[in-house]
Amino acid sequence: MPEMNNTSGQYRGKGGLPKVVVIGAGFAGLWLTKKLSGKPLEVVLVDKTNYHTFLPLLYQAAAAEVEPESIAYPIRSIIRKMPNVRFIMADIKEINYEERLVIANDITIDYDFLVIAIGSATQFFDTPGTEEYAFQLKNLEHAIMLRSQILRCFEKAMVEKNDDARRKYLTFTVIGGGATGVEFAGALAELIYGPLKKDFPSIDFQEVKIYLIEAASGVLLTYPNHLREYTVNSLRQMGVNVILETFVTHITVETVHLKDKGVIPTETVVWTAGVRGAPIAEKWGLPITRSGRIEVLQTLQLEKYSEIYVIGDLAAVMANDNKHHLPMLAPVATQQGSWAATNILRQINKKPPLPFKYLDKGTMVTIGRKKAIAMVGKRTFNGFIAWVMWLFIHLYNLIGFKNRLMVLVNWANDYIFYEKSIRLILPYKRSSIIKKQLLEQLLKEEKK
Ligand SMILES: Cc1cc2nc3c(=O)[nH]c(=O)nc-3n(C[C@H](O)[C@H](O)[C@H](O)COP(=O)(O)OP(=O)(O)OC[C@H]3O[C@@H](n4cnc5c(N)ncnc54)[C@H](O)[C@@H]3O)c2cc1C
Repeated sequence: MPEMNNTSGQYRGKGGLPKVVVIGAGFAGLWLTKKLSGKPLEVVLVDKTNYHTFLPLLYQAAAAEVEPESIAYPIRSIIRKMPNVRFIMADIKEINYEERLVIANDITIDYDFLVIAIGSATQFFDTPGTEEYAFQLKNLEHAIMLRSQILRCFEKAMVEKNDDARRKYLTFTVIGGGATGVEFAGALAELIYGPLKKDFPSIDFQEVKIYLIEAASGVLLTYPNHLREYTVNSLRQMGVNVILETFVTHITVETVHLKDKGVIPTETVVWTAGVRGAPIAEKWGLPITRSGRIEVLQTLQLEKYSEIYVIGDLAAVMANDNKHHLPMLAPVATQQGSWAATNILRQINKKPPLPFKYLDKGTMVTIGRKKAIAMVGKRTFNGFIAWVMWLFIHLYNLIGFKNRLMVLVNWANDYIFYEKSIRLILPYKRSSIIKKQLLEQLLKEEKK
């Protein structure tokens, strides 16, 4: 049933106002919505979840450092004071460009302007076994699952008498030396060699192994050499085995296979080696790049449909130097959100949309307690200063006072007492993995 179906050529919003439908309440969609709040148009914000996730702290939720709820914020609370904005929770499956409709299982919504801001997904590069067996770190559910897996492995290891099986539980392999891989490996080392060492006194921590595997000759390739070396040295001091120039050929439910470098038996593999545009966009018949992003004009519009904007991780937008696409980063998404909002208002006022220009305010990566790196223009920082900068910027950008307070309390608890307060193992579904595990077990038993 169409929510509204007026194809008369008039604007379709309430009282004949232009109606803007925004798919995705991530950084891009939310910043666009904020900018259109109070303007003479109707905004319908659609997301498949009812909360906005602050993804830069996701790895901390996975490493039991912050509570998952403290990095998520209900969308309805965010829009409460925006009279011209409505929220609909729906998983959009199709777009009808001719009739100007977006379609979910149980609702169809018409639009005058459409903004597609559905973000990105893990890129597995067709590496066999990864999609089935590796943990990902792209949404809150992934983080809760990974946290439960880590804690479950320690509980299992404590009672496991077989040496090989126990070491497998105590081996954690992170694949991909980008920002997420580095941040998670560091946080994992702090969790394991901090509170878990106190919680499991009977476990021999010499048996614990944390690997960070990267195919390139260094981690964090977009940073200068000295910061990359600082990162690798810091991780090694923290107990992470950083293995560079090593290609993962495939993984199974209990092993990681390295090209010419043997096999790592492990129960926990975290794949952070790639990111691509959200796969559903491929089904929407739009021009897609090799990295699964949608090609857009510099104005952030689609070439074929001037009423449709694509922003955030999903959009392949040229950087100011016109040589490469902008990276998938939160500031790129928020700036594109604000820019697309301005362009929509310009279109309504019969003015031409303007080409997007990205203002790079710098990038940073945290490695662990008092250890981070930052690059602001040509200036670089590392160690304590970069770490303090990182703490302030992330706290400042979190949505909601209560969330900031919760994160601050968790960080203080961690900093002062070397404690992580959230160590619950919640039930988690790895149905495909569990199914395969059972199948492999059955096959093994049959062979015997
Ligand atoms: C673990 C991790 C750490 C990161 N750390 C940093 C960092 O330190 N600094 C930084 O700048 N960037 C970081 N990023 C990247 C940053 O989070 C992204 O660039 C940013 O979130 C992109 O914003 P977006 O709005 O395009 O997508 P997202 O924020 O991913 O939002 C997409 C939204 O679309 C919704 N959606 C998806 N499909 C549908 C559908 N079919 N129907 C309805 N809704 C849908 C989703 O539920 C989601 O709410 C990190 C990302 C991750 C995963």
